[in-house]
Amino acid sequence: MELSYQCPKCGGGEYYFAKRQLLKGKGVFIRAKMVDTPLCKDCGEVANRIYSDEERISQTVNRAANTKFFGFLLLGTFLFFTILLLFFS
Ligand SMILES: [Zn+2]
Repeated sequence: MELSYQCPKCGGGEYYFAKRQLLKGKGVFIRAKMVDTPLCKDCGEVANRIYSDEERISQTVNRAANTKFFGFLLLGTFLFFTILLLFFS
């Protein structure tokens, strides 16, 4: 599938890739990483990824699946500690 990008500043669809530093993670886990970033050919602004409808749908589905997964994880942790407490009291 071909990826498409658009400049948020001038709306241009022409871009090139360059290595740019990207910060990943949160708090103490933050790491700088060099990644290929699409830059606008006209003004050098970082171009935004344009998602097709298909991709948007799959993203929504993934997000829903993740939410469900974390729900189960929380419930599992809660049950685990409840059982521990019951067992050791
Ligand atoms: Zn631009």
